[in-house]
Amino acid sequence: NRIPKIVILGAGYGGILTAQRLQKTLNYNEADVTLVNKHDYHYITTSLHIPAAGTGNPESSRVNISKLIDEFKVDFVKSTVVQINPEEKKVILTEGTLSYDYLVVGLGGETETFGIPGLKEHAFNIRSINSVRHIRDHIEYQFAKYKREPEHTEYLTFVVGGAGFTGIEFVGELSDRIPELCKEYDVNPSLVKIYNIEAAPTALPGFDPELVQYAMEVLTAKGVTFKIGTAIKECTAEGVLVAGDEFIKSATVIWTGGIRGNHLLDEAGFETMRGRIKVDEFLRIPGHDNVFVLGDCSLMINPENERPYPPTAQIAMQQGVVCAFNLAASIRGGQLKKFKYDNKGTVASLGKGEAIGIIGTRKIKGFAAAFMKKVIDIRYLFIIGGVGLVLRKGKLF
Ligand code: FAD
Ligand code: NAD
Repeated sequence: NRIPKIVILGAGYGGILTAQRLQKTLNYNEADVTLVNKHDYHYITTSLHIPAAGTGNPESSRVNISKLIDEFKVDFVKSTVVQINPEEKKVILTEGTLSYDYLVVGLGGETETFGIPGLKEHAFNIRSINSVRHIRDHIEYQFAKYKREPEHTEYLTFVVGGAGFTGIEFVGELSDRIPELCKEYDVNPSLVKIYNIEAAPTALPGFDPELVQYAMEVLTAKGVTFKIGTAIKECTAEGVLVAGDEFIKSATVIWTGGIRGNHLLDEAGFETMRGRIKVDEFLRIPGHDNVFVLGDCSLMINPENERPYPPTAQIAMQQGVVCAFNLAASIRGGQLKKFKYDNKGTVASLGKGEAIGIIGTRKIKGFAAAFMKKVIDIRYLFIIGGVGLVLRKGKLF
């Protein structure tokens, strides 16, 4: 009998958890498992706002994949997926082609610009190690440029489009970074402006109003100016045009206005909603029992409110565990497990020593929440890399 081939696309939260669980579950020669990822490292997306602002190092937000998987059990291929061909059960990579019996798609999300003119060309996104290094260096460069051309105060105006969790966490870090940069470049702090612009009638739409209020107070005190109920309509090299036809001049626009699934899923001919595939209760694509989709590429409806679960690392990890179980069961002809989301809560950082969150039904804020955020980050390092990884990358303060 031929050994079944499992190919996992993407070594993000969903992909890594699937690979790690498979290497534990499968017996020798039960399946050939291949993990494909663009880079030879896994990035800890949930902390990318920190290196983006420059309050932390990009190295703390990435881990070599060779440290996370057992390469005797899982083949790692560093390559970029360019096409998924479900009819021929093949995946085309920049370096060659892989055929599969079972496919796991964990390619993560992409920036959603909703067709707003100029955002693709002129705005930065917090999406990968490469993108956040670029943002960090660009921000610092604006200070250096301003010192040479002090008439250009727009060099010191930073616009963050979207006050979802990514936007809020980023402005929290940026407002911590600005005083350091002002000191280093001898810039008067009152010249620096940070705008967080949100289209909805509130920041963090859908989140607890009392905690949203708290977050806005903390961030406003740190120098962030909120423009709520104000949609960005266009972005140019000179700044952003917002609802009401106000133009905000800025040399730095960071778009955190939303994400969608991976374009490769649309191109493969699957039915998607903004690039995300509505999977069945076993995480498979309806009509394709051998293709599983996880994380930001997948869409699952919360039966409690009939709305899609938000795309988070938390759900991607839980899906990875169930996906590995279901792959093993599929190979062995066993019973598949239904995915059931266990919401452990949400905690968002507002910069050093400040955060907001809900754990179960308990609201937390301030230092207690910031501490909880660190505990969650460390727990993740422990899950994927044990004590060794916690000691290398984990930071409680
Ligand atoms: P990802 O983790 O995005 O991984 C996708 C992988 O696929 C990457 O390794 C990428 O390099 C690879 N890849 C992509 N395209 C290709 C290709 N063509 N070929 C090969 N490889 C490819 N969620 C939470 O639950 N809690 C948080 O605190 C939290 N904080 C966040 C903070 C920030 C700043 C951001 C941006 C997001 C945060 N999220 C958080 C959301 C969370 O990060 C995502 O939901 C999660 O990363 C999705 O995991 P995933 O497995 O779907 O994909
Ligand atoms: P999001 O979609 O949650 O938020 C985007 C925000 O941008 C929304 O509030 C939206 O109203 C706003 N927006 C959209 N168009 C706009 C426009 N034209 N002008 C101004 N504002 C506009 O995206 P996100 O914040 O990147 O989060 C993505 C996912 O990652 C979510 O599921 C989130 O829960 C998760 N996440 C979680 C954490 C955490 O738990 N700490 C942190 C970051 C992200």
